[in-house]
Amino acid sequence: MSQTHDGQATGAIRDADVLIVGGGLSGALLAAHLLRLPGRRQVLVIEPRSELGRGEAYSAVELGHTLNGNAARMSVDPDNADDLTQWLTDYIAAGGWPESKQQPVPISELFPPRGIFGLYVQQRLAEAQAIGAQQGSTVEHVRAEVVDLQVAADSALLSLDDGQQLRGACAVLATGMFPAARTPQTQSSGLNAAAVDPWDVSAMAQLDPQATVLIIGSGLTMVDAVVSLEQAGHRGPIEVFSRHGLLPHVRRQPPAWVDFLAEDPSLRTPRQLLRALRGQCRAALVAGVDWQAPLDTVRAHIGRLWSQATDVQRRQFVRHVRPWWESHHHRSPPLSAELVARLHGEGRLRIHAASFKGLQPSAGGRLAICIRRRGEAHTGWVVGDALINSSGIEYDWRRVARPLPQQLLARGLIQPGPLALGICADPGGAVVDAQGQVASRLFAMGPPLRGMWWESTAVTDVALQAKALAVRLAALPL
Ligand SMILES: Cc1cc2nc3c(=O)[nH]c(=O)nc-3n(C[C@H](O)[C@H](O)[C@H](O)COP(=O)(O)OP(=O)(O)OC[C@H]3O[C@@H](n4cnc5c(N)ncnc54)[C@H](O)[C@@H]3O)c2cc1C
Repeated sequence: MSQTHDGQATGAIRDADVLIVGGGLSGALLAAHLLRLPGRRQVLVIEPRSELGRGEAYSAVELGHTLNGNAARMSVDPDNADDLTQWLTDYIAAGGWPESKQQPVPISELFPPRGIFGLYVQQRLAEAQAIGAQQGSTVEHVRAEVVDLQVAADSALLSLDDGQQLRGACAVLATGMFPAARTPQTQSSGLNAAAVDPWDVSAMAQLDPQATVLIIGSGLTMVDAVVSLEQAGHRGPIEVFSRHGLLPHVRRQPPAWVDFLAEDPSLRTPRQLLRALRGQCRAALVAGVDWQAPLDTVRAHIGRLWSQATDVQRRQFVRHVRPWWESHHHRSPPLSAELVARLHGEGRLRIHAASFKGLQPSAGGRLAICIRRRGEAHTGWVVGDALINSSGIEYDWRRVARPLPQQLLARGLIQPGPLALGICADPGGAVVDAQGQVASRLFAMGPPLRGMWWESTAVTDVALQAKALAVRLAALPL
């Protein structure tokens, strides 16, 4: 018999060095770095999905569900920006992704399907495993959900949904994003139960091709949903509702632009930034340069600016700038954007600036959603045949109805991050508990750190964090 950290007798506990909770992109990249570093360590990645390295994003099976950046922007190796391009070159040469040959652009400018990107991540993990094996380091996939976690001065203990317990010298929360559709708020409105999965083409193929489809949310998930509908043979009207009615812009390949924020570190408040950015975009347009060029220089500064900002400034940003930041910065891959633009031009897809308020069944098996149009005080109903929820992510862990976030909060092992976005951590990812103590054995990376960095989700964010966190963990006394 062993004992848990709160002294309760339990069955055998399995020991390891590093426990990674979640085996999506973050978990896989962290594991790969740990394998490559000198030293011998046993890493367990606990992930209910059948494969590591994919998570929700890279489990995509449709070729039309692509990355939103071209290959040259999506390397998982912070030291080699061409890593994905090189891998993709070999993959295509070996007969993979034959459809890519229909696009007359260099491989570095292709937007790979996310499922193929998942293969790339898996291959990089497999290569790291071979290197780690030479020094006795291992990574093992434990297929389960972590439902509870306790920490002691020199270890962390995980409880899994199959009853197993794992003890490690440290644990890392790489649990990714929690879809808003799984939070109690959307569950109680019935949205989750009534909605078709934005990526489920076979479910969409069951719809009448002329069905009126209502989509809540107008970001990149909506773009994927439109691709799915097209692929499923849908040819009817699509009505899109989102608070501001803004569509993601299309990603182009802008030239380099002066890093104006590096040159003027006095620019800090959202108002100053916006004014300076608008000025730079105007200057770019006057010079005949794409406005995306100056915008793309901001990305490298976002983490610093966000972490230096006061809560009041962060709130101003979220309230006034966020919708525009999302639509201008999180841009759409060109082929998907072309489809959305075509359907919009044909009048088949309409965008409404309106917020979703509720839903109810309607006559003839249809459904009605209650909306409030922007600028109007009253609500109204819109009837459709099917509904897709692409309203995004729940970053507030207090509202995530999964056992682990709830247990971590109940045990006081975490506290909400700034603006209740994700959880609080020090700059290197060590989790801060409810009393403000920095944990010595519990870490987090990727989307859970949204509140600390604002942008903590994209491939490049996760790749950088994985590398730095691996170095920190490797230095811990095991
Ligand atoms: C649909 C979609 C498309 C995206 N497209 C792009 C893109 O084009 N470009 C870009 O830069 N970024 C994109 N992103 C963002 C980003 O790359 C992903 O969010 C990235 O997958 C983050 O990796 P992650 O491992 O932290 O999270 P996830 O990939 O979400 O993986 C987290 C994993 O943790 C597991 N997990 C959660 N809780 C537990 C638990 N208690 N116990 C065990 N396991 C648990 C989950 O099963 C999941 O597999 C996209 C995201 C999504 C959702």
